[in-house]
Amino acid sequence: MPEPASIRIAVIGSGPAGFYAAGHLLKASESCEVDMLERLPTPWGLVRSGVAPDHPKIKSVTRVYEKTAAHPRFRYFGNITFGQHVSREELLEHYHAIVYATGSPSDRPLGIPGEELPGSHAATEFVGWYNGHPDHTDLEVDLLSAERAVVVGNGNVAIDVARMLVLAPSELAPTDTADHALAVLAASHVSEVIVLGRRGPAQAAFTNPELLELGELGDADVIVDPDELERGLAVADAGTENDVTSRRNVEILREYAARPPVGHPKRILLRFLLSPAALLAGDDGRLASVELTRNELVPTPDGGLRAQATEERETIPAGLVFRAIGYRGLPLPGVPFDERAGVIPNRGGRVTDVAGGSPLPGEYVVGWIKRGPSGVIGTNKKDAQETVDAMLADLSAAGGESNGSAAAAGARHVPREPDAAAVEALLRSRQPELVTYAGWEAIDRHERALGEPAGRPRVKLTRIEELLRVAAAE
Ligand SMILES: Cc1cc2nc3c(=O)[nH]c(=O)nc-3n(C[C@H](O)[C@H](O)[C@H](O)COP(=O)(O)OP(=O)(O)OC[C@H]3O[C@@H](n4cnc5c(N)ncnc54)[C@H](O)[C@@H]3O)c2cc1C
Repeated sequence: MPEPASIRIAVIGSGPAGFYAAGHLLKASESCEVDMLERLPTPWGLVRSGVAPDHPKIKSVTRVYEKTAAHPRFRYFGNITFGQHVSREELLEHYHAIVYATGSPSDRPLGIPGEELPGSHAATEFVGWYNGHPDHTDLEVDLLSAERAVVVGNGNVAIDVARMLVLAPSELAPTDTADHALAVLAASHVSEVIVLGRRGPAQAAFTNPELLELGELGDADVIVDPDELERGLAVADAGTENDVTSRRNVEILREYAARPPVGHPKRILLRFLLSPAALLAGDDGRLASVELTRNELVPTPDGGLRAQATEERETIPAGLVFRAIGYRGLPLPGVPFDERAGVIPNRGGRVTDVAGGSPLPGEYVVGWIKRGPSGVIGTNKKDAQETVDAMLADLSAAGGESNGSAAAAGARHVPREPDAAAVEALLRSRQPELVTYAGWEAIDRHERALGEPAGRPRVKLTRIEELLRVAAAE
């Protein structure tokens, strides 16, 4: 069989992983054509809707993705949801390969009583709300009734949430925080945020710059109890002793523990060896307090340390809880899913029928939905390279063509109709309000123009109808 004139690839999701995969593919082979399908009208995934608004430099990574998007062999189809507007089977008819890059949009529950009380939020929804994700525009976050908030988790998302809750209005004003959130955050009565780690300081997943930033806030002191800190460090952890980030985190935390509070109006307390056992309601039915269990660290067979509950309890009055204990992938219709890990099962990026199973020809995966919600934006670049290498190896394999049945790695999928115009017609018939890259550029210009007079990078449009209206005007 002669080589096809072009190799047509569909990438599902326009976050960092999807864009790195597209970039690698376009660079690797002149015969690759990439179509990117994104459920929102806007691209960039969590770079737009996750990365904190007071970190604009991190968001500037989108310049790299813009270059990929400008490539003549790249097309963007926004406002198209895989599984709703188009199915896996339909895409396999039109493309030599599908790359799933849909991230981990859901959250891990705590699994404790009271989790559903008003005042208890998933970090995913709070982060989406302040970042203007259209799914979360109408979230009600009551920052007027509560003076104390508890953030459960010891990663960078927990730090982002805590910091956003105590940023001074002057620190928030020049950001692209969604307007609805700016107003609520500016009027907030929350003056104390407690960040809870179930294990000790050495096991925290913070990165050094994020932890350091807490010590430099304009309106808030950072407080660490020296006794609690040292108790958390009492059990040696072979797993983190040689970890540079962990060691530096401990140094920073010791510095915070020794630092007298400046007397800022707000404060962030970093606490360790504590797990929420129950969220308790007040007379009004809203969250009023959090019951905590004190943990101790015990060795695991693999040489790590795990938190084990003791009999010790503590109750903290708090009107708000944010659970930031991890994002979680969601299954895509018709695509294998590993429920336990919350990822699409794969071997080095080749989708497999079950975890540890056989690769499915023509289906690949990158980013958080491939390896779970960990790592920084740059981690997705290398991760995408691994998948693209596997895909190109399969596509260039001499034999082993497949019409869709399970086959070993190296089999190549042959689509029935690899025609660019045909698939665009199909998508437009399913979603007349499809947003092209030019449509996104119109949104981008509009948002930047709205932000400019106030010295803000942009004012985000947070409703799908508004986004579509501006895109359609293009
Ligand atoms: C709160 C938060 C803050 C972060 N801050 C930083 C930071 O400061 N620095 C840093 O380096 N990293 C940060 N990260 C990590 C970084 O955002 C991730 O590593 C990265 O976004 C993962 O990329 P992804 O492409 O796998 O997923 P995502 O970025 O989540 O992209 C997935 C895309 O797929 C789309 N999609 C989902 N389902 C469908 C469907 N059915 N059909 C079509 N499209 C679909 C989504 O709309 C989304 O656009 C942060 C993460 C979070 C959660």
